[in-house]
Amino acid sequence: MRLDELYRQGRPEISVEFFPPKTPEAIERLFTETVERLKKFQPAFFSMTFGAGGSTRNLTIDLCDRLKNRAGVETTCHLNIVGQSKEETRENLRRIKAAGLYNLLALRGDPPRDEPDFKPHPDGFHSSVELIEEAGKDPWFSIAVTGFPEVHPAAKDRASDIAYLKRKVEAGGSVVITQLFLDEAYFLEFMGHVRKAGITVPVIPGILPILSAAQIRRFAALCGSTIPPAVEKELSKYENDEAGAAQYGIELATRICQALLKSGARGLHFYALNRAASTEAILKNLGLARP
Ligand SMILES: Cc1cc2nc3c(=O)[nH]c(=O)nc-3n(C[C@H](O)[C@H](O)[C@H](O)COP(=O)(O)OP(=O)(O)OC[C@H]3O[C@@H](n4cnc5c(N)ncnc54)[C@H](O)[C@@H]3O)c2cc1C
Repeated sequence: MRLDELYRQGRPEISVEFFPPKTPEAIERLFTETVERLKKFQPAFFSMTFGAGGSTRNLTIDLCDRLKNRAGVETTCHLNIVGQSKEETRENLRRIKAAGLYNLLALRGDPPRDEPDFKPHPDGFHSSVELIEEAGKDPWFSIAVTGFPEVHPAAKDRASDIAYLKRKVEAGGSVVITQLFLDEAYFLEFMGHVRKAGITVPVIPGILPILSAAQIRRFAALCGSTIPPAVEKELSKYENDEAGAAQYGIELATRICQALLKSGARGLHFYALNRAASTEAILKNLGLARP
């Protein structure tokens, strides 16, 4: 189903994000294990991140094609503009459409690690808004955009971040999927600002099941997400115990998701990191194991 139609059905819609695995073996594992296990929960869609390098980009579209057309699950293809000319971006859009994929998560993307600021390709699109406008010229595409409950690290302040989100929605974003956060209070506060700004589209919280203490600290630092003191205190019990950290991650994400659903969230978007077990356990805890 198209993103612009999906969240009208009056039930929480589950989506799961993957990234392109690095080896052929890992790709097979993703499809034969993770995808098969999570398919049983009837997700509204799977999505695949769009990498920084040329070969990963082609891989993203190929894997989305396989998810939709061979695994048989609705799919959202991520697309960014990093390092691409306009023609290269248009070619990516053509390839995505040729694979029968209409759902797109339109991103600017992050600059390479050694460049602190985003610099557009000299012949490229300059911003996510320009990409959204370009994709939106073709009514084939149904477009999601990103939102930042704790304010994007590069934003001047909350007001400018929300104003930019509004521009992305007005340019053609029909749903917002958020960055990870580790306390529902951040999301609920963000929602207050979003609605006050007159942004009315569905906003879907991004949920990262913690897999290890080191991993969540790394991710949180990269994304500018806070690790609340209560979470940090728990994590410190599992410094060298991945199974313990993952179990705590399941409990924490279950509590956060329960609060979000109670507050009316229309969906949950899981950053599954190509693994099934934690997302599966959280969905079972939430009673979202659909027959
Ligand atoms: C759900 C989700 C999925 C993601 N998937 C991918 C992926 O597949 N590939 C990938 O590379 N990265 C991905 N990311 C990471 C994302 O690219 C980074 O978080 C990036 O730093 C910003 O997101 P964006 O690309 O949507 O940028 P934008 O929203 O375009 O920009 C980020 C912020 O910068 C400010 N800003 C940017 N441009 C302007 C402007 N012209 N004027 C004023 N303010 C501006 C705004 O405050 C804005 O919120 C994902 C993030 C999320 C939340």
